[in-house]
Amino acid sequence: MVALGLRRRLRPGSIAQIRLPLRHIGSMNAWLLGGDPLTLLDPGPRNDEALCALERGLRRRGVRVEHIELVLATHQHVDHVGLAATVRRRSGAQVAVVSALARFGAEFEARLAADRRFSNDLMAAHGVPPEVIAEGGELWDFIAANGECFESDRRLAEGDRVRAGGRELRVVARPGHSATDTLLVDDVAGVAFAGDHLLATISSNTEIDPQRPRSRAEYLQSLRRTATMPLARLLTGHGPAVTHHAELVRSRIAEHAARSDRIVHVLGDGPAAAYEIAGHLWSPETVRSQPLLVVWEVLGHLDLLHGMGSVVEHVEGDRHSFSLRGDALEARTRSRLALRR
Ligand SMILES: [Zn+2]
Repeated sequence: MVALGLRRRLRPGSIAQIRLPLRHIGSMNAWLLGGDPLTLLDPGPRNDEALCALERGLRRRGVRVEHIELVLATHQHVDHVGLAATVRRRSGAQVAVVSALARFGAEFEARLAADRRFSNDLMAAHGVPPEVIAEGGELWDFIAANGECFESDRRLAEGDRVRAGGRELRVVARPGHSATDTLLVDDVAGVAFAGDHLLATISSNTEIDPQRPRSRAEYLQSLRRTATMPLARLLTGHGPAVTHHAELVRSRIAEHAARSDRIVHVLGDGPAAAYEIAGHLWSPETVRSQPLLVVWEVLGHLDLLHGMGSVVEHVEGDRHSFSLRGDALEARTRSRLALRR
């Protein structure tokens, strides 16, 4: 329980957005839920700047880290859960997360090392030059520096209800952006804490890990399921809330389809590796500085095109490339000839 004086400025049932600084994206949103139990949802990345901003944001609401009673999290990325162990240590708060995220937290260092190896192999297999892979080490150093193993006190499962900040939140699995993406839904208020599942101003990437080669297909399915939910607001992991989520899902799916068309267009010129295709979709700076993200993006599309029978994957040694299937290529050539006429 929080001392009464401290609660004065924090209404039970209130939701406070605390913006924490984050390199590259600008900021991430931690959420303070006033009421019983006093809850911090997505505590943020583990670095001094973010911790200071968190402490400042809490103080403005008359709260200290030590008062937090429950920590919840939307997914496994360090910009969301990096501070979970710190908050738990300082406050004695219970950490309640879905089982897969609890496992990830407990095995953080081993999982990070395995993901790094897998991702470097994935990039090499899909045409990223060794020197570009070597430069990408900075991303992994950032993740290692901003995360930490954390213990969980309660393991949540799909459909569970958890009491947090005077409200009841329902646990809904929405894998895609990461394997552990979770919506925490207040059905009464029509509000969902959505993490990076759906963001208002940027499209979410879809991480490929050893267990999850088809993350983009999984993500699109998750998005469609979210679109059918009666929600007034999705409180997101970065940037503003999403208010018309079904409309936004439609536009995200349309953007996805447009990018798939561009990939088919690129393959019309002949077989290519995923990284080579990325070179046709983004600037040289983007492709060089974010090789893993662009490979995830292109492979996500190729996987779906492969599933639709439009694309064939070729494997020579440990090198992968893709080409249009015979009939898709013919259709592509026909449409090009028609354009020229
Ligand atoms: Zn994320």
